[in-house]
Amino acid sequence: MSKVIAITNQKGGVGKTTTTVDLGAALSRENKKVLLVDFDPQGNLTSGLGIDRKRPFTVLNLLQSEVMGMPYDVHEAIVTHETDEVKMDVLPANKLLVSAEAIFNSFDGEKELILKNVLTKVKDDYDYVLIDCPPSLSLLTINALGAANSVLIPMQPAKYSLDGLADLIKLVMMAQNSFNTELEFEGIVYTLDTPNQIEARNIKQDVEDAYGANVRIHETFIPRLKDISSSPSYGVSVFDFAPSSKGAMAYANLAKEVLANA
Ligand code: ADP
Ligand code: MG
Repeated sequence: MSKVIAITNQKGGVGKTTTTVDLGAALSRENKKVLLVDFDPQGNLTSGLGIDRKRPFTVLNLLQSEVMGMPYDVHEAIVTHETDEVKMDVLPANKLLVSAEAIFNSFDGEKELILKNVLTKVKDDYDYVLIDCPPSLSLLTINALGAANSVLIPMQPAKYSLDGLADLIKLVMMAQNSFNTELEFEGIVYTLDTPNQIEARNIKQDVEDAYGANVRIHETFIPRLKDISSSPSYGVSVFDFAPSSKGAMAYANLAKEVLANA
């Protein structure tokens, strides 16, 4: 059985893309077959894995063909990222993905389920499909929620982080009540963490008080580390850039928690 996880937070710069890449890499090291979907027009996941953002065939073409009812082969858009340490497939994106909103809106059918219909064609080839969402609660994010089995929320335990969380959780509950009744919370994972700072501790307590009863808060946290931020410049995950670093260890631990929640 494959599991599709949407990695979502409408705040930018909280570690969504990093978590998609490095959690995906960690899962591939556990011998899982992994597909990463770049669903952000910024295309950071695509370029961070050394894939040319100018590639003509991206996830956008698949959405377009799906909406127009034209035949297409998802494999034509997939790129394999293989190194000494990891092997995972990637559905790339670039800035043209902004036009997806108009494509979704032009569709007469269920606008929330277009990505789901695309992924249904390949998801059984994989154990895990991770969708890297844009920093917005747009139709792109809604389509990611429509396609997903669960939602993983990377969150920086810093001031103002709590503000958007309530809206995001409401959107997930709206999805659960309408177009994806099976959708679950994978949980919250703290990223860019500064565990020794009082502010971070206070915010974690606030999150625990507000959501701890309903949403899993992962025990593993991802500290702010140079090895994690440097690896995309080399087009690789942290496991290739610094295999025995604390950053690699943190994502390996997060993967173990995700696997335990199969
Ligand atoms: P998002 O996708 O939510 O916008 P990113 O994953 O792109 O966030 O991360 C934002 C910035 O922070 C990037 O420059 C990234 O390299 C850096 N970053 C992410 N996680 C960490 C971390 N644990 N330690 C240090 N830098 C990080
Ligand atoms: Mg991103």
